[in-house]
Amino acid sequence: MKKYDLNFQAMKPEHEKPCRGLAILLGAGPGEANLITRAGAGWLGRADVVIYDRLVAPGLLSLCRPGAELVYVGKQADRHEMSQEQINRLLVDKVARGLLTVRLKGGDPFIFGRGGEEALALRQAGLDFRIVPGVTAAVAAAAYAGVPLTHRGAASSAAFITGHEDPAKEASAINWRALAGVDTLVFYMGVKNLPLIVERLTEAGLPADTPAMIVQNAASPDQRCVCGKLDELPELARRAGIEPPALTIIGKTVSLHEQLDWFSRLPLAGKTVVVTRSRHQASELSAGLAELGARVIEAPTIDIRPPDDFSLIDAAISRLGGFDWLVLTSPNGVGALFDRLAGLGKDSRALAGLKIAVVGPGTANALARRSILADLVPDEFTTESLGLALVQAGISGKKILLARADIADERLTDSLSQAGAIVEDVAVYRTISPDGLPAEAVGAFKDEKVDWITFTSSSTARNFLALAEKAGLDFGKSKLAAIGPVTAETLAARGFKPTVTARKSTIDGLLQTIVRHELAD
Ligand code: SAH
Repeated sequence: MKKYDLNFQAMKPEHEKPCRGLAILLGAGPGEANLITRAGAGWLGRADVVIYDRLVAPGLLSLCRPGAELVYVGKQADRHEMSQEQINRLLVDKVARGLLTVRLKGGDPFIFGRGGEEALALRQAGLDFRIVPGVTAAVAAAAYAGVPLTHRGAASSAAFITGHEDPAKEASAINWRALAGVDTLVFYMGVKNLPLIVERLTEAGLPADTPAMIVQNAASPDQRCVCGKLDELPELARRAGIEPPALTIIGKTVSLHEQLDWFSRLPLAGKTVVVTRSRHQASELSAGLAELGARVIEAPTIDIRPPDDFSLIDAAISRLGGFDWLVLTSPNGVGALFDRLAGLGKDSRALAGLKIAVVGPGTANALARRSILADLVPDEFTTESLGLALVQAGISGKKILLARADIADERLTDSLSQAGAIVEDVAVYRTISPDGLPAEAVGAFKDEKVDWITFTSSSTARNFLALAEKAGLDFGKSKLAAIGPVTAETLAARGFKPTVTARKSTIDGLLQTIVRHELAD
């Protein structure tokens, strides 16, 4: 197993090195995966071992390096998969073996996270640790519900309190009287005890009509807020069926929620959208959808693989000087071509003498990241427009290299050949269809929870329909969004006319079209 070297330790003489393991008590933030700090993400990417809790967003684990050991230690209010002592021992054991061990916790490790106990256990064992703060649930809930924890003229103090205290306990460890003097109160873990909390606070002198709210699943697409007067809140929460994780915010600033709520007003709030792109390509679309408030389910229907046989590509690369144009129709094609160039010990200079045409801005950007500006991008981002634009550029007698997928549409080759070009169509990558759709997607379809399915190419459409049929899924309740006319045609030809087709065939265009449709609804 890989040992972790701290630089300053590496500088010490061998006999002074106590142990080269290191623990990172790391706050993951609440809700979705994107509230982790850069420091936190950096450590996650280097860890040998990651010991994580239930409240950690699953998406975060994809930041771990391949081969890292992932240990789930559960932890729920009343059901501990592993006791705290066992977790401490596990942590100490991993670090003592010299491993870089991340202890990944929801929110912040030092706010109801038992990070203090773990740090003490490490200290007692003479082991090194670092503590990386995280966005705690109260701070995230305040932001995502539009409730400032402090506010000039309305709130100058705030307190975070556990609501998990055993109600049967005679002497409360909480100083309720003192709390009644704090402007904003946030109770963690208090769903079950809410009636008792309200009782104690009103007894301590807090007015029964103090504005109060519960935020469930803060900072996630499933966020729910319930607002009311303090004494009404337990009943409102019960009726709304509020469940953990949720916290209660009490104080004057809660009344600002009405004006400052922004999250539930996002155009795709409450919508579930399935992304059918390949996993490594999905991020831009998924992030765009999440930013618009949607719950995103990635259900890749395509996997990109290197070709079985490189001989045709290698032959073309060895004769690059003989071509006039290089045509690229997807970011995947750009990536695959450059991978092969690198594999042959070449770089972008190998393309220096060629004119390069691309289908649209996504492909142009993929090239631009390699410091190459495309010579030709059609006005409309379809292969048909690309063909027309090339023909207009005057390609009679010119040699054109098309570097594309193995399943690419013949029509582009045909139109270029008809215009008198000498075309060599080379597959630089293979697309394959996975065996099935992920369980999360299947479940959402069965529950009729999917509002939209997005298709960013004909092959995602074809493969999705095949996978859905194989799984016996009915997606009749879902709206279909196609990135462009070719994809739309592929769907329509199989009896599934898309609800919308992007006006501009880009990820942005697709997002805009979905939003426009939702707003018009
Ligand atoms: N260390 C964590 C808290 C762990 S205690 C932090 O700093 O946030 C677990 C409690 O945190 C839950 O019972 C709930 O009250 C609160 N919590 C965690 N995630 C939450 C979320 N997404 N929305 C609302 N409350 C949350």
